[in-house]
Formats: sequence, structure tokens, C-alpha cells
Amino acid sequence: MPKPVIVSLDDDPEVLSSVERDLRARYGQDYRIVPLDAGLVALAYLKKLEQRNETVALFLVDQRMPEMSGTEFLAEAIKMYPQAKRVLLTAYADTKAAIDSINDLGLDYYLMKPWHPPQEKLYPVLNELLDDWKAHVRLPYDGIRVAGTLWSLACHEVKDFLTRHQIPYQWLDIERDSAAQALVTDVSPETKLPVIFFPDGTQLIEPSLQGLADKVGLQTRAQLPFYDLVVIGSGPAGLAAAVYAGSEGYKCVLLEKAAPGGQAGSSPKIENYLGFPTGISGDDLTRRAVSQAKRFGVEILSAQEAAHVVVKDPYRIVQLKDGSEISCHAVLIATGASFHTLNMPGARTLTGAGIYYGAAYTEAMNYQDQHVFVVGGANSAAQGALYLSRFASRVTVLIRGPEAAASKYLVDAMYANPKIEILLNTDLLEVSGTNTLEQITIKDTNSNEIRACDAKAMFVFIGVRPQSQIVAELVSCNDKGYILTGADTRVDGKPPRSWTLERDPLLLETSIPGIFAAGDVRHGTNHRVASAVGEGAIGYALIKEYLKAL
Ligand SMILES: Cc1cc2nc3c(=O)[nH]c(=O)nc-3n(C[C@H](O)[C@H](O)[C@H](O)COP(=O)(O)OP(=O)(O)OC[C@H]3O[C@@H](n4cnc5c(N)ncnc54)[C@H](O)[C@@H]3O)c2cc1C
Repeated sequence: MPKPVIVSLDDDPEVLSSVERDLRARYGQDYRIVPLDAGLVALAYLKKLEQRNETVALFLVDQRMPEMSGTEFLAEAIKMYPQAKRVLLTAYADTKAAIDSINDLGLDYYLMKPWHPPQEKLYPVLNELLDDWKAHVRLPYDGIRVAGTLWSLACHEVKDFLTRHQIPYQWLDIERDSAAQALVTDVSPETKLPVIFFPDGTQLIEPSLQGLADKVGLQTRAQLPFYDLVVIGSGPAGLAAAVYAGSEGYKCVLLEKAAPGGQAGSSPKIENYLGFPTGISGDDLTRRAVSQAKRFGVEILSAQEAAHVVVKDPYRIVQLKDGSEISCHAVLIATGASFHTLNMPGARTLTGAGIYYGAAYTEAMNYQDQHVFVVGGANSAAQGALYLSRFASRVTVLIRGPEAAASKYLVDAMYANPKIEILLNTDLLEVSGTNTLEQITIKDTNSNEIRACDAKAMFVFIGVRPQSQIVAELVSCNDKGYILTGADTRVDGKPPRSWTLERDPLLLETSIPGIFAAGDVRHGTNHRVASAVGEGAIGYALIKEYLKAL
């Protein structure tokens, strides 16, 4: 946290340096002393401080200055720093202005020039004011601040990216906070959102996730020209494979388009993973796995989306969405699955503006004491509802079927939670809202009753589909898009036509040699964290076999 600032302002260079010397001698250790010689210069400087989220403890300001008087300066300065103490340096003739400003500006003190000796005339006054300031000040947050609105998808994506990367930030809602609005207007006059303020005083306006990843120091580029193994997707399957590959000395790079942890990373509490009897949050599990992988030398590239995998025997080439390529011997597709999106008018435009897919973790706090909805009845929906109930005043869960499909311990917890209401046999028919979600229409499929409900936020957890598009035209998939591996690739009892080797595909090998699949993207998996981890580990063991045979 940078030191709080004491601003001294005087147009007379001699007085200014004398004040500076006295202030530095007594307060230099705990405060940054900033001498400035003109009101407008000082106001511009305060704006910069504000953008860096630095705080001002005290203004010590000369009253008589040519372009702007001390009181005129203070009137502007305290709009930015209302908590700062205000002291006017006056000549005898200015005492009326000083007395007037006690009321008008909440002036804390006026000091008559000269103030020497400072031990008698200056320090006792300032000590008292600074003690008072310290006792009451709410120090500003000194990390990353994200300013935007709740109805912007770009803002939601940035918040989600930071949350999922476990990078702390402060959210500034410019519709509720006029100071945040002013900060944004200063740097983004066209109000492009979000604006991200960094502690070094720089900003990013409506950045790409890759730009943001670069800025916060995440690795986004591969360091080597060639790898033994490229793992695509850093959910539990990809992370497990990477940890084993790294631990055995293979050159391994892991690509992640969003944030490490995959679906598991968005789980508030995983209660059925072996070895964690009281459960473990998805971000905790992810943090541990990521540091384990890094410790073994695995490169993890953030905000890097694989677009295609190409075979140039004996090599496999992963083409990234940004146009770059990574070459390797073997590829593990661990791209998991993603939630179905709502297929109804308005849902797309309201995504990130009240409709969220699985993002309970990121957005829950924004709906403190409000009524929110959850759509879906499986484990992820139940976990989402339970997590949201810690913040929201009421959580209504809409379930299409006659009962919740989640595990018993989650269903029991939902029914025992007084804030959660479960509506079974309920279809979501419509969503509506101008800038943000305002209303949803639901139907009780038993009684056929249709009703509209006011809704500020709805968290959707309906079904999942495999994220196999990047290899959909290369390897064999089933009719739902899940990747076939091992014996499942056989056609009429024979290896597929794309298969070029004498041996059969290994257990988790796809219809193309050297391309493997593990976890939720694979046909036959059972959509659990432990299964994904297990498949990642087995996948690696089979890849090792493949690499040894090269
Ligand atoms: C909210 C929620 C709660 C859950 N709770 C539990 C639980 O309590 N217990 C349990 O056992 N299971 C739970 N599950 C299921 C479990 O999380 C999944 O089965 C598991 O995460 C699957 O792991 P995976 O590695 O196969 O894929 P995912 O976890 O889906 O990870 C795949 C990763 O690949 C990335 N990716 C996709 N395409 C690309 C691309 N082209 N380029 C780069 N990266 C890409 C994705 O961004 C993602 O990070 C939960 C799931 C959810 C959503």
C-alpha cells in the first residue's frame, strides 16, 4: 500500500520549499510529501492519484495564489478526497476567507504565516489532524479495480476471468457510485466498459481477455518451439495429465481459453472428491493443481483458445485462435463440456446482464438480499442454489422434471434451506428486460398455469455439451459430439479408416494416433471430478507409451 499523501500548495517557491522541508522532517517516514506550485497543476495531479487509488491525508494550502485561491482549490480537491484534512496557510489579511471556509469547506484549521518554529506552531496542529484522519479514514483498496455496469457482458467476462484466476479485484458499479462514474468518464469519455484501473496508475479499457492476461502477468505465449505433449483444457482432466507429464520430465504445455479449473473450478463446494471429507471448493482444488503443475515445469497458457488440431506426421500441430501454432508429438483433448445456453428470444442479449451460465461464484455478491432464480436440477444447479442462498434473500430453483436429479446430499440441503424454494415440473418460457433481465415467464406443466415473475438474475445450469468442435472433423465423435476413444472408435469391428498404425487405438486414444481425449469431452465418461482426474492420469500413462514407441 503506497504511503498516504500530504499535498502542500504554494505559488511562492521559497515558502513551498520551506514547508516541504518542515513536512518531510516530521512526516516523511509515514507520508509522501508532494509540493505543488499551482492550483490547476495540483488538481490534475489529484486526478492521477485518484486513478491510482492513492489517498490524500492532508492538504496544506496557501490562500493567496494567482490563478486559483487556496479556498477555490480546496473546494475542488475535497470532491475527490472528502476525507482529507484541510489546512489553509494565510496572511493576517486573509483571515476572513479562512473563517468563511470553516463553514463552507469544512476547513479544519488555518495557520498564520510564518509558522516557525514548526515544533510549536505547525506539528502540534498537524499531528492532531493526522491522528484524527488515521482514526477515521477508510483506506482505499490498493489492488485492481474494475469499473462497469451489471448489465454488460464484457464486464461480466472480465470479472469472471479475474475471479476464476483468483486475482483479487474491487468491483465499482458506475451506476451506483458517482465517484466511479467520474473516474471512468475521465479515461473513457465514450464510456467503453469495463475500465480496469491498476495500482501502477495504468488502465485497460474494454480489453480482450488475452490483453488482460498479459497485463496481470499470466503466461499467454509458449516458450518452446516444440513440446512432447500439448494438453488442451485445464479442467481436472487436463491438469491431472499435465501434473504427471511434468513430474516425469516431459515438455508439456497446457492451453486454457478461459480459466484453469474448468467446470470444477466454478463449483462452490465439491463434497464427493476422495480425501476431502468436508468438501473442497473448486477454486481451492484448482489453485493446488495449478501450482503443482507449475512446480513440475508445465507451462500454463491463459486466455489461449485452441482452434484446430492438424496432423503432419510424425508431428501434431495445435493452431490457436490468435493465429499462432504449437508443435508437439502428442495432444490430449481435455476440453470438457459447457452448459447449454437458453434458446429463446432475448436470452442472448441478456447474457451477462442478469442471465448467467454457471457463474454463481462470480456474480452472487452482486445480488445481495435480492430474489434470484436458478434453472436446472442437477448437481451443479443445486450447488449454485446453495451458494447463492448465502447472499440472496430468496433463491427459486426451476426444475423441469418431477424431482431434482442432484445427488441426495445436495437435494436434502436444498430442501432444508429456508431461503430456497424449489418449483418442480416447471418450464421456463420467456425472459425479458430492456438493458438487464427484468422478468421471466414460467409454466407449471402439471396445472398448465403460466405466470410472470420479476427477476433480476437467473443462473442457468441446464445440461452440458462436449466442447469437441476443435477436432470434430478430425477424430470420430458420437452423434452428440462426444469424442470416441479406444475400442469405441472401431467401425464394424475394424479400426476406423483414419487409423494408420498396426496396433489398435489405446484406451483413451482417438481415431487418430497420438491424439488422446480425457474427461467430460469423451464418450463414456461419467462427468465427475474424480473421473476426470483419473482419466487425465491414465491418458498421460498411455501418451507416455505412445511417446516411447516413436
Ligand atoms: C457448477 C458445477 C459443480 C460441479 N460439482 C461437482 C461435484 O461436486 N463433484 C463432481 O464430481 N463433479 C462436479 N461437477 C462436474 C465436474 O466439474 C466435471 O465433471 C469436471 O470438471 C470435468 O473435467 P474436465 O477436465 O473433463 O473438463 P472441464 O472441467 O469442463 O474443463 C475443460 C476446460 O477446457 C477449456 N477449453 C475448452 N475448449 C478449449 C479450447 N478450444 N482451447 C482451450 N481451452 C479450452 C475450458 O475452458 C475448461 O476450462 C460440477 C460441475 C459444475 C459445472
